[in-house]
Amino acid sequence: MVEQRLATLLDSLRSRGERLTSARYALLAVLAKAEDHLNAEQLSNEVSRTNPAIHRATIYRTLETLRRLGIVEHTHLGHGPAVYHLADDVHQHLVCEGCGWVAEAPATLFRSVERTLQREFGFVMRANHFAVVGRCRRCSGDAGDTPKRSAMGVG
Ligand SMILES: [Zn+2]
Ligand SMILES: [Zn+2]
Ligand SMILES: [Zn+2]
Repeated sequence: MVEQRLATLLDSLRSRGERLTSARYALLAVLAKAEDHLNAEQLSNEVSRTNPAIHRATIYRTLETLRRLGIVEHTHLGHGPAVYHLADDVHQHLVCEGCGWVAEAPATLFRSVERTLQREFGFVMRANHFAVVGRCRRCSGDAGDTPKRSAMGVG
C-alpha cells in the first residue's frame, strides 16, 4: 500500500519532467508512511534519521518545492506549526481545543458552504487549509464514549 502510493507519486513527478532527487524521494517516503500529522521539523528529523547526508536546509527547501508542485499540502491544526500531508489524501480536520484530540473528517463536510460561497461571492473556498476547532465529546461534557482517532472512519 505504502509502496504503491509512493510509486504513484514518483511517477507523477517523472511525468512532469521533475527530477527525482534523494531529498524528494526521502521526504515522499516519510510522508507516504506517516500515520500522524508531522510538522516540518518532525519531517526533517525523520528524513535525517534515515538519510543523515541530506542537509536540513535541503529538506525544508524540498518540502516547499513539493508544495509548489501540488504534491504536498499543509494544514493548520491549531496554534502550533503547520503539518503536512500528501495531496492525494484530502480530508478535513477536527481539533479539540480542550485536550488536543484530532480526528479526520470527510473532505465533503463543507460542500454546501463551498457551493454557497461560490454562487454568492464567486469565492472558491479551501476548507481543509484550517482545522475546525471545537470541543470533543469528552471535553464538552457529553457522557458518551471517549472519541478515538479517525472516529469518523476516514484516513
Ligand atoms: Zn497555511
Ligand atoms: Zn477534548
Ligand atoms: Zn490529516
